[in-house]
Amino acid sequence: MLRLDGVSLTIEGKEIIKELNFELRRGEIHTLLGVNGTGKSSLAYLIMGIPGYKPSKGKVYLDGKDITDLPVHERAKRGITLAWQEPVRFEGITIGEYIGLSAGSGVDISKVLSLVGLSPFRYLNRLNDGTLSGGERKRVELASVLAMKPKVAILDEPDTGIDPLSIPEVIRVIKEMKRSGSSVLLISHRPEIIRMADRASVLCGGNIQKTDSPNETFRWFEGNCKGCDYVNEPEVRKSGTL
Ligand code: ADP
Ligand code: MG
Repeated sequence: MLRLDGVSLTIEGKEIIKELNFELRRGEIHTLLGVNGTGKSSLAYLIMGIPGYKPSKGKVYLDGKDITDLPVHERAKRGITLAWQEPVRFEGITIGEYIGLSAGSGVDISKVLSLVGLSPFRYLNRLNDGTLSGGERKRVELASVLAMKPKVAILDEPDTGIDPLSIPEVIRVIKEMKRSGSSVLLISHRPEIIRMADRASVLCGGNIQKTDSPNETFRWFEGNCKGCDYVNEPEVRKSGTL
């Protein structure tokens, strides 16, 4: 469904991603693990087509079509969406209207709000503005992804940051995304969340070091990455720390 073929990404002269290959299969939940600073968010931005994250090498394919040179809105139109680690706000419209902007036809916005733990009675007509807490904003963002029913949903650490969603909530939302037909690329470190995925991969040294069942991958991650401060410094790799 979504395929990265030999992609490299350089930011401020530093090669963050190096000829990386990756595939997100249709209908799967795929977790991406990696210590802080390995480039997980950068990879998410690259897939979404965010300016500044264009690969210097390699191709990105969606359903076999080359989307490497398409801008964000074109990718969004084709069904890729990203729930931001720190969601953006749209001032002046209600939460219901905001979710409605991305909702497919026939989507019950009240139901979607309930699924992310926001009572429709209290939130549907509330303004989507600066008075919302971080956690409420995250929930609104996830609700809009749910309502969109995208082909590919990328969720960047929905379970961390200020006022995160609880693990059971995240699991409920992701299951619902899968049920409604989305493939999910989920960046997370929580064992409970990794375990619910169909497959999991470890990003380190600019490439995918392992892809396997969640249990196998998590074991590998714990054994190889815990306590390792190697991130993306090629010198360290040469000296054999990785
Ligand atoms: P992760 O999400 O795995 O913690 P990131 O993708 O956020 O990692 O970051 C990977 C590396 O790229 C880090 O060294 C980070 O500082 C750097 N980086 C990412 N985006 C930018 C940017 N816009 N400007 C400068 N450096 C960046
Ligand atoms: Mg990140």
